[in-house]
Amino acid sequence: MAAVLLAAALLIVAVGGLSMRLGPRWPRRLFFRGPAGIVIHHTATGARVEGHVVDAERIARWHEQRGFSAEYRGEVYHIGYHYVILPDGTLERGRPDWMKGAHTYGYNDYLGICLVGNFDSAANPGGAQQPARPTEAQMAALTSLLRDLMTKYRLRPEDIHGHGELGATACPGDRFPMERLRRELAGAADNFGRRGR
Ligand SMILES: [Zn+2]
Repeated sequence: MAAVLLAAALLIVAVGGLSMRLGPRWPRRLFFRGPAGIVIHHTATGARVEGHVVDAERIARWHEQRGFSAEYRGEVYHIGYHYVILPDGTLERGRPDWMKGAHTYGYNDYLGICLVGNFDSAANPGGAQQPARPTEAQMAALTSLLRDLMTKYRLRPEDIHGHGELGATACPGDRFPMERLRRELAGAADNFGRRGR
C-alpha cells in the first residue's frame, strides 16, 4: 500500500515538473518534438540595402556578423530564420525546420519566417523603405507556407505570432496584418484542426 502511495506521489511530482518545464501544452511537447509555433518577422529594411538585394543570402551575412552562425548535421548555417519571403513572393529557405532558430529571444524552438520590407509606420513613416507594407505576393506566399507548416507540425492559428507579441520589438511592424492573417488561417484550420486538440 505504501509503495502504491509513493508511486502515485512520484507520478504527481513528475507530471507537475514536466508541466512546469514544458508549459501548459506539455503532453504535446513531450510526445511531439516538432516546432511549437511560428514567429513572423520583417527585415526592417527596404528591398535593397547599399545597392544589394535583401534576400536570404544577404541576411545570412548580417546574421553571421551578429554571431548567429550554428552547425546542424555537419553544415553551418548563418541565417537565424527558417524562411525568407521576398517582395515578389519568392520563398527562400534559411536553416532547416528541425534546427533551432536564432530570431526570437526565448522562442527559438519556434520556426522563424522573415518578410523583406519595413512595415513599421514609426520607423518607416513616409515609406522610404519599400515595401512599406507586405505585398499581396508576400501574403499569398506566407499564407500558403503557414498552411503547409501548420498541417505538417499540427499547429493552430494561435500558435502563429508576430515577433512583437513575444518580445519588446515593433517587428514585424504595425502595417503587418497579424489579426487578419490569423483569422484567415482559422478559416482554413477547419480541415485539419479536429484531431481532438
Ligand atoms: Zn523580428
